[in-house]
Amino acid sequence: MLPGVHTGAIRSGYDVVIVGAGIQGLALAHELAKRGITDVLVIDRSWPGGGASGRNGELIRSAFSSPEWCGLFDLALDKWQTLSAELDYNILFNRDGYAVLASTEEQWAMLQRDRAFQRSIGLRSELLDDADARRLLPAAAPEMVRGALYQPHGGFAHHDSVVAGYLEQAAARGVHVVGGREVVAVERSGSRATAVVLADGTRIGCGVVVNAAGGHAPDVDRMLGVELGILSARLEMIVTQPMRPFLGPAVAALDLLGYCHQTMRGEFVGGTELAHVDQTTSLRGTWAMVRDMATKFTRLFPSLAGVRLLRHWAGTVSQTPDLAPALGPVPELENVVLSVGWVYGFMGAPAAGELLAAYIDTGRVDPRLAPFGIERVREGRWIAEGSLVVETAA
Ligand SMILES: Cc1cc2nc3c(=O)[nH]c(=O)nc-3n(C[C@H](O)[C@H](O)[C@H](O)COP(=O)(O)OP(=O)(O)OC[C@H]3O[C@@H](n4cnc5c(N)ncnc54)[C@H](O)[C@@H]3O)c2cc1C
Repeated sequence: MLPGVHTGAIRSGYDVVIVGAGIQGLALAHELAKRGITDVLVIDRSWPGGGASGRNGELIRSAFSSPEWCGLFDLALDKWQTLSAELDYNILFNRDGYAVLASTEEQWAMLQRDRAFQRSIGLRSELLDDADARRLLPAAAPEMVRGALYQPHGGFAHHDSVVAGYLEQAAARGVHVVGGREVVAVERSGSRATAVVLADGTRIGCGVVVNAAGGHAPDVDRMLGVELGILSARLEMIVTQPMRPFLGPAVAALDLLGYCHQTMRGEFVGGTELAHVDQTTSLRGTWAMVRDMATKFTRLFPSLAGVRLLRHWAGTVSQTPDLAPALGPVPELENVVLSVGWVYGFMGAPAAGELLAAYIDTGRVDPRLAPFGIERVREGRWIAEGSLVVETAA
């Protein structure tokens, strides 16, 4: 049992019920508690962090190519810098930076455009030419390195520690975090959600209900009667045996649709995307993906050839056609808030938690949250973010 998980009785009602104890639900609970809103239940069908929040690549950056993504994720990146201190928990935030790697002239031109945009809005990042990028990534195959866009204050953090830190802080302020309890229905009266119903029939009244159910968010949307058309998708990762340090920063390689880092224990951790991800909530990984990841990463780092794989896992996310999250109130429902459609939801959580807590507390939608509103998805107003290391359908 994780420290901080509530083992006592669940009350018959809470001011805020958050469905999903992943990093989104827990960061939101922590931010609500900081504002004095502690009559909060975070409820999970598995264990806190058992969804994608404990299965991701742990990469963190804010150097994107659109004002919308840069606005939200730069707030998050600021918060990552001091999160260990805020949570009084060492989240093992690595400060070796984050490099987006270009292997072709076309990708290099794109990074130059991204950098010009980032400079115009005052966002901190650097362009590294091929020589500097090779110095940063000495183990990379030279033909894979045309240049890089580098954020020295980006990086990665240990996902289980982040979940544990948020959980313990929220619990210490009085939030109830409960695992092993599945929400199967939401009762409504007119335009209000009145209670969530658990698999064993328990009914819990709610002032506000938040869908933070990760890959299962579409199911919870259906319970709420919310039509958004988001889909579930499975992503996969591999972890190798520990090796001597050969890779400092987190790396996203545009040519591979791949992202990776080396942990403090020396393991290489990486994931790749295929052009079409499997739209499923199944956690069963595939050999096709293991092959894809092994092939691509040995191409990038030839010294990985022959290294043993220790683990391979899958996780599920929900996604919108433009891969931007859908965040905030649901216009036709008075007391329902969504934090869904997260594909970069690990790095974005500190910001989303702060801004959604502010909305729940004050009713005010922060300008950095507003572009990710629900109506954008319904109306097909897609955000043009060009530097995602995944294929978008929009
Ligand atoms: C392989 C992989 C690599 C990734 N790499 C990165 C990365 O490097 N950087 C990054 O920023 N993001 C990455 N992501 C995405 C990131 O992990 C997710 O966007 C983020 O974890 C979403 O957090 P969440 O809290 O919304 O969802 P989750 O962590 O999935 O939490 C949702 C929780 O809701 C619970 N739940 C669902 N339905 C119910 C129900 N009916 N009742 C009760 N509980 C329910 C689930 O059990 C789960 O614990 C990656 C994801 C994967 C899978």
